[in-house]
Amino acid sequence: MTNSRTLTNVFGVIGCPVGHSMSPAIQNQAFRSEHIDASYHAFHVEKKDLQNAVTGIKALGVKGFNVTIPHKEALIPLLDEIESTAKAIGAVNTVVNEGGKLIGYNTDGKGFISSLRPYLSASLHDSRILIIGAGGAARAIYFSLAAYGAGEIDLCNRTVLKAEKLIEECPVKAKSRALSLQNAEKELNNYDIIVQTTSIGMHPHVEAKPLSLENIKSSAIVTDIIYNPIKTAFLKEAEEKGCKILDGTGMFVHQAALAFEHWTGLFPDVKEMHDIVMKKLGGTLC
Ligand code: NAP
Repeated sequence: MTNSRTLTNVFGVIGCPVGHSMSPAIQNQAFRSEHIDASYHAFHVEKKDLQNAVTGIKALGVKGFNVTIPHKEALIPLLDEIESTAKAIGAVNTVVNEGGKLIGYNTDGKGFISSLRPYLSASLHDSRILIIGAGGAARAIYFSLAAYGAGEIDLCNRTVLKAEKLIEECPVKAKSRALSLQNAEKELNNYDIIVQTTSIGMHPHVEAKPLSLENIKSSAIVTDIIYNPIKTAFLKEAEEKGCKILDGTGMFVHQAALAFEHWTGLFPDVKEMHDIVMKKLGGTLC
């Protein structure tokens, strides 16, 4: 990292709202642990101010930043270069400022796969996967699993048309079907891995579930990318069925670690990041 304009390298996250972001806590700790003179801040940027924020970031020499709701898609035309995965997904969550050139990446899908890997008992290439949801997060996860070469990836969603479109738009063709939530529920025992990506079950609607796990097999791995609450009603039901469960904090810290690597070339201590997140959320590990 060069340091042409400021004494301390500045990084941040832009979003709206962004006040409760856990990114400053984990990224600042990673900079301290790696002995890098840098500071990371949360910047509240309204939709109408996005262009001005990008101009300001360039003028101030901010070295890199994360992007969260609602700017992940809208930022794309304002950047100088987009890495191919982020371009295909149509959203960026990480930007590197390389000498005034802003380059966009998407680390959500890869972060999800990294968080899942330690829990796998079989290769992803041989796994039958069901993704619930077809929004932005599902898109990043589906595209990354397809690029990884996962055996079979079905998508189910309230709006089945959105699941069909997502499958069609993926540049890497995977063995996939688009299903209704009701049909997926009936066929649950076909799947080795279930990935819950809808916002159903998020605080304050903590009792809500996208579908019933009645037909699931106990050897399945069930993940929910929500981390507020840490253990959703969906994960609780999966645990009761004897399944291995994985909450959304893993994906969150792994996507952050990959962003840190893009900025610094160093891979941070993911466990340290995870401990900070768990402390902030006041939870225990799933
Ligand atoms: P999004 O683009 O708005 O997609 C929302 C998804 O939820 C869609 O599939 C939508 O179905 C479905 N949905 C919403 N309300 C529903 C309802 N009442 N009944 C049935 N389906 C419903 O959101 P996103 O950006 O993908 O984020 C989804 C969740 O992932 C959020 O909770 C977010 O916090 C979390 N997330 C976590 C991480 C992490 O690092 N752990 C990263 C990104 C996102 P339709 O298509 O039918 O509307």
